[in-house]
Amino acid sequence: MADKLTLDIVTPYGLVFTDQVDEVVAAGSEGEFGVLPHHARFLTTLKIGMLTYKKGTETGYIFVSGGYAEVGPDKVVILADSATKAADIDVERAREAKKRAEERLKQKDKFDEARAEAALNRAIARIHIAEKTK
Ligand code: ATP
Repeated sequence: MADKLTLDIVTPYGLVFTDQVDEVVAAGSEGEFGVLPHHARFLTTLKIGMLTYKKGTETGYIFVSGGYAEVGPDKVVILADSATKAADIDVERAREAKKRAEERLKQKDKFDEARAEAALNRAIARIHIAEKTK
């Protein structure tokens, strides 16, 4: 069996990332989990958060807006509504989204609270992950 993992990150907009990596850490709904080659198969839902992968000496950071992870011995497939590599995150846009969500959360009678909270969590995670490239 190979000693690498194929990491595929797929969104409705297409394949965001595909590469052979050594290790993947992602934000599962039940907590963070790490995957090395030869891991047992499992399927989990994901939280809004950061996916980290290691490839040799390189570490990569990717924003993932929840979704699903399918883990196999030589493969990790992430299916998410939105996923963005740290370097491609538009921080200004995320800051605007954060402000908008905070304003909406102050007027809960006018806006859908759960939706605003999810938008706020996406924005906070994007800002945090973008920092990783600095
Ligand atoms: P916004 O209100 O700024 O659209 P959002 O959290 O509602 O933020 P999503 O619905 O999660 O946005 O994503 C819609 C599309 O916009 C996706 O393709 C996502 O990758 C992209 N996107 C959203 N925010 C950013 C960002 N800060 N940087 C880069 N791409 C972004």
